[in-house]
Amino acid sequence: MKEELQNSEKMRLLSDLTGIFAHEIRNPMQVTRGFLQLLNESNLPDSNKGYIKISIEELDRANMIINDFLTFAKPTTGESKEVDIKSELLRVANITHTFSNTQNVDIETNLTDNCWVLANPQRLDQCFINILKNAIESMPNGGQINVSCAPTKHGYIEIKFTDQGIGMTKEQIENLGTPFYSLKKNGTGLGMMITFQIIRSYNGKIKIKSQLEKGTTVSILLPRLDKATSNLNTSATHQGNRTL
Ligand code: ADP
Ligand code: MG
Repeated sequence: MKEELQNSEKMRLLSDLTGIFAHEIRNPMQVTRGFLQLLNESNLPDSNKGYIKISIEELDRANMIINDFLTFAKPTTGESKEVDIKSELLRVANITHTFSNTQNVDIETNLTDNCWVLANPQRLDQCFINILKNAIESMPNGGQINVSCAPTKHGYIEIKFTDQGIGMTKEQIENLGTPFYSLKKNGTGLGMMITFQIIRSYNGKIKIKSQLEKGTTVSILLPRLDKATSNLNTSATHQGNRTL
């Protein structure tokens, strides 16, 4: 309980601080990046251009961290509306297409019509992108990701992302969602924390199943919106390696 309180206190502090500083830090970074690019186009020896390249990459990395923080700093529930999960997943697959292509990753979809939920589409997209990005990054030599959505018997919409990547140990699964927990060289360790937070805010659940060297399935359960009666059904059963 104490730990939970400390965690939520830490999160609130992080959220407040980033909300205040992120925009202010971004501007000088953009200016610096612009001048570095100008320098890069000038007549400098290659050895110097190497330093410029590293500087630009590091600025981009800092920008990535700020992006993740900014999402975190936004209010947990934006304006909710009726969202069709199928079209939202298609949109997200489209957004991530360039990245998955360069990583030799195919995204297969198996999407059922009429999977309606009540949520903020941008926040949902953020979750789906975070999970897809992790799935793509888990397959350094390429592979396939399956994305599906379907209603469950218990009044939920289940959205599944299955990769054939490096997988996770039990301990790694346990640590998922902890702020700054990342095993990647360029990771922020914020993606899953934000994802958990958003899904929880919609009374949803996340299940993770993973096997080392085999792959990972991340399943999201969101309360199904019955369009006929517009009633939210909130009963469900859950299973799996970890439910959050
Ligand atoms: P980041 O991607 O910036 O490292 P995340 O919060 O998105 O932060 O993920 C935290 C960690 O969880 C990752 O560094 C990775 O080790 C692990 N992880 C998340 N998703 C997967 C996945 N699909 N396959 C293997 N490992 C994963
Ligand atoms: Mg990530």
